[in-house]
Amino acid sequence: MNVELITAQIEEILNLQKCHALQLRTSTAGERLKLIRKLHDWVLSHRKDIRTALHSDYRKPFVETDISEIYPVVAEAKHTIKNLKHWMRVRRVPTPATFLGTKAHVQYEPKGSSLIIAPWNYPFSLAIGPLISALSAGCTAIIKPSEMTPHVSSLIHSMVGELFDNNQVYVIEGGLEASQALLAKPFDHIFFTGSPAVGKIVMRSAADHLASVTLELGGKSPVIVTKNANLKDAAKKIASTKFINCGQTCVAPDFVLIPTCVRDEFVNHLRDAIVTLYDREEAGVELSPDYGRIVNDRHFNRLTELVTDACAKGAMIARGGKNLPDQNFIEPTILTHVTDAMMVMEDEIFGPILPIMDYDDLDEALSVVNKMPKPLALYAFSNSNKLLAYIFQKTSSGGAVANDCVLHFLHPELPFGGVNNSGIGKAHGHYGFLEFSNQKGVLKQRIGFTAASTLLPPYNKAKRLLIEGLLKYF
Ligand code: NAD
Repeated sequence: MNVELITAQIEEILNLQKCHALQLRTSTAGERLKLIRKLHDWVLSHRKDIRTALHSDYRKPFVETDISEIYPVVAEAKHTIKNLKHWMRVRRVPTPATFLGTKAHVQYEPKGSSLIIAPWNYPFSLAIGPLISALSAGCTAIIKPSEMTPHVSSLIHSMVGELFDNNQVYVIEGGLEASQALLAKPFDHIFFTGSPAVGKIVMRSAADHLASVTLELGGKSPVIVTKNANLKDAAKKIASTKFINCGQTCVAPDFVLIPTCVRDEFVNHLRDAIVTLYDREEAGVELSPDYGRIVNDRHFNRLTELVTDACAKGAMIARGGKNLPDQNFIEPTILTHVTDAMMVMEDEIFGPILPIMDYDDLDEALSVVNKMPKPLALYAFSNSNKLLAYIFQKTSSGGAVANDCVLHFLHPELPFGGVNNSGIGKAHGHYGFLEFSNQKGVLKQRIGFTAASTLLPPYNKAKRLLIEGLLKYF
């Protein structure tokens, strides 16, 4: 479709949605939940279609789709169904002495029309999860799925057509041109998931209309392992969360910082963990039905170049290194003797390559992390609570996990998101609802008099004394 046609289509749908958004201001929890229940039921009854679409796009194993695409959406819907009434309730706030005679509360009004732009790496859940938040808050939504996973994009298109009226939810498929045409329009809120580079473009476009934004971005999420950690347990957890989805996960452990004295023991545990996960027969990971592929040639070439560059600069491959370009297969690859002069330590890796950097003193490891842009997640493994607290206090990251990885993403009561370079705003559950809501502060004058009215001009002596008292005692 050419740009003029896309623009005309967007304009028509957005006008419809803007009108409907006015009606949604008074929508009840029951009305919103009806839509979310429909969505929830569709997802469970179309599990096979979702699995097939993801497998066609990048050979994602079926069970991985169940765990990482279907479960998060179903869990988000269920959590919202259970809690929405409570989230929507007005929140009374206490009345300080200076406001005697008034009553105040916070009420949650829908922001209005929203735009959801999704990435390709969890193309279903990262489009539909935010949609549940938009619906819970009473917003309309236009979704732009990623063009890099066309089967999922087309499935989302038909799902939305089946479940929703155009004035409530609509899907615009396409790549850069579709995104740019959408970003030129005056949405009330934009929920973007993707790279920090595109996040900046989204924020600049949003500025033209002063649309609010949620930016769910990426970054290099470090793992800090301390000397006294359970190394076998850490290796198992790091390997399973690094190599799921072939390393193409926003919160995947990006690199590991480990004391030099335990590095070799840790690497041996990592090797064992990879064998247990994907290569029990020792016939090659490429034969495992549980291991996916890189999404396209561009990313395959980018990742193999990272390994070549690292090896040329002195890194060693402790395991892996095998590639099959015809299938976009990259073996789980562990690099040791890594330094920050290597390309692999510059940007988010987003693939199955795990660099290991040594440190001798914990503060040295923390300074490596603090020199980088703030990551989406930080993982620390240690059997000392004191050290864990020290690491979390001395670093800044969107989220953090002690003695495990990635699990915070699935916890329904935790806010999920980045900080600065890894994102702005928070998603999931109540936090997602708040992101699509305007938290309107409402004050009601009850008796026609407040302390504030005693401070109007003329500022005579008595009033000046009153102000002195106010500054001193309230
Ligand atoms: P991307 O930024 O390239 O693309 C994301 C979306 O933006 C796609 O729909 C794409 O069509 C659109 N887009 C691309 N270029 C654009 C432009 N110039 N102008 C407007 N729109 C544009 O990201 P990706 O490659 O799809 O996903 C990978 C990135 O997403 C990684 O950085 C990863 O960490 C991040 N991510 C973050 C989260 C999170 O929850 N924080 C989740 C998944 C992925």
